[in-house]
Amino acid sequence: MSNRTLILTDTLYDYVLGHSLREHPAQAALRAATRGHERASMQISPEQGQFMALLVKLMGARNAIEVGVFTGYSALSVALALPPEGRLVACDISDEYTSVARPFWQQAGVADKIDLRLAPAQDTLQSLLNDGEAGLYDFAFIDADKVGYDGYYEACLQLLRPGGLIVLDNTLRDGRVAMRAEDPDTAALQALNIKLREDLRVDLSMLPISDGVTLARKR
Ligand code: CA
Repeated sequence: MSNRTLILTDTLYDYVLGHSLREHPAQAALRAATRGHERASMQISPEQGQFMALLVKLMGARNAIEVGVFTGYSALSVALALPPEGRLVACDISDEYTSVARPFWQQAGVADKIDLRLAPAQDTLQSLLNDGEAGLYDFAFIDADKVGYDGYYEACLQLLRPGGLIVLDNTLRDGRVAMRAEDPDTAALQALNIKLREDLRVDLSMLPISDGVTLARKR
């Protein structure tokens, strides 16, 4: 028995997946298609995708934002959890990476829910704000360039309704946040983690799952 989070051995991790993972065939196929990719570690873990899908369903979310699509697994997970009229604005700058995603979004029947915007995410988020969409979104997932996180967080906080949820990925940076920062990405997340700790605009939970997942609920 332990009152702190377990160290996850390979055996225990396999057990977790073996006893909880429920993937759509398109999700499994997309993971397989990304496995050999040079930047495959940018894909979220499947249990994280399933966790975010559960959050989306718990909230009854309809309008969602994703900052950082890569090959589209997290977008697929969220889109599958949205209702038929749901919409996910998915922001990325890479046509190459996101083009991997499209056939699998089609296979899962969610391509129509995903509004992919190929542009710097901060520009896309600002355009949503300019279009008067502040307060209209329920859920946002931020998983892109770490130096940009703070700006994405601030824009998403404006776009979310009260009670909406921002999920931030990689907030533990392989444990490097607890050490002296030696790269700008880690330094950016250290600063953001300190800011979030004190940010009374949100309710907060930092989860040591995957590479660190922080949940911030807009008050
Ligand atoms: Ca990530």
